Amino acid sequence: MNTVSSLLDKEWYQRYKQISKLNIRSSIYDVTNRCNLRCKGCFFFSSDEHKAAPEEMDIHKWEDFIDREKERGVNLAILIGGEPTLCLDRVEAFYKRLPTFCATNGQIKVPRDRFPDMMLGVSLWGDEADEQTLRGKDTFSISSKYYAGDPHVYYLYTLTPRQIGKTERIIRKISDAGLKVHMQLLSNDEGVDGFSWKPDELETIRFEMDDMLDNYPDTLISSKYYHEIITTGKMFGTAFGWNECPSVTQPLDSRDPRPKRLIEFIRWASDLKTMHRCCTSETRDCSTCKDGAAHMSWVMVNKRAHIRTAKDLQNWIEVYEMFAKLYQFIPW
Ligand code: SF4
Ligand code: SF4
Repeated sequence: MNTVSSLLDKEWYQRYKQISKLNIRSSIYDVTNRCNLRCKGCFFFSSDEHKAAPEEMDIHKWEDFIDREKERGVNLAILIGGEPTLCLDRVEAFYKRLPTFCATNGQIKVPRDRFPDMMLGVSLWGDEADEQTLRGKDTFSISSKYYAGDPHVYYLYTLTPRQIGKTERIIRKISDAGLKVHMQLLSNDEGVDGFSWKPDELETIRFEMDDMLDNYPDTLISSKYYHEIITTGKMFGTAFGWNECPSVTQPLDSRDPRPKRLIEFIRWASDLKTMHRCCTSETRDCSTCKDGAAHMSWVMVNKRAHIRTAKDLQNWIEVYEMFAKLYQFIPW
């Protein structure tokens, strides 16, 4: 029978040991229902999650809630919205209590004297033209000025079919700004014309992502196995979707049989009482879901399936390391 130690040489085994002790327990929090942009394809607004519950306005209630989340075992708070930086007092309440990651569109500068080492994932939806079409402005020109050289920032680069053949210029711009980048795929929840993936485009972008990783290994936080998983939507022949998704809110998860899943994961609305179905759109058809974190987690919770060949297990380690880097559990 294959075991972890029988499949790995000394170096890989060390890498495995480093991540196997992490025991990451994440949950996701809508910090606010508001945003200073309205991107076409935003899962939050397109699924009306901003109307699911009114925002809790009392900061003390946020503080008490976060303390309870900590007691529940959460050791990674992932802040989304809406735009979390519109409510820095709430962000600070998390930051003072828990390891905290904040997603942002980068149009409001997070003051580093108040949040010295909080990891920020700055969203970027393609090149200047795509950003103009989908988000109404070239966000990079602002966010890159705010964060150039910041060691606790990376770009979350959402690839669209229109980015095929153009990713290198963007990655070079990010590299020139002294920042890292992680890539994911647009799910196009609002069906914007020309932004839905066709099978041949997914295949093309997969190999373009691989090339970028080969050419910019110090800038990209990624792995070729992750590229394979998000572009094919398959792991060992099984298709990703509702029956497999690990990122479903635990108390709402009535699937039977229950797949391998994130332990105690909850996505909370900003009233601190309402729960959303999963880490992304409440209304998305799971068979079209390209959510990068959900696919990454799908790999991570299925360790046993990867204890098959040395290569499979190394793939699993690389995806786990990628996740751990993105959320600052291990260095870049
Ligand atoms: S910046 Fe983010 S939260 Fe705001 S509209 Fe765009 S995708 Fe949605
Ligand atoms: S939309 Fe995506 S993340 Fe949400 S339950 Fe479906 S597959 Fe999972």
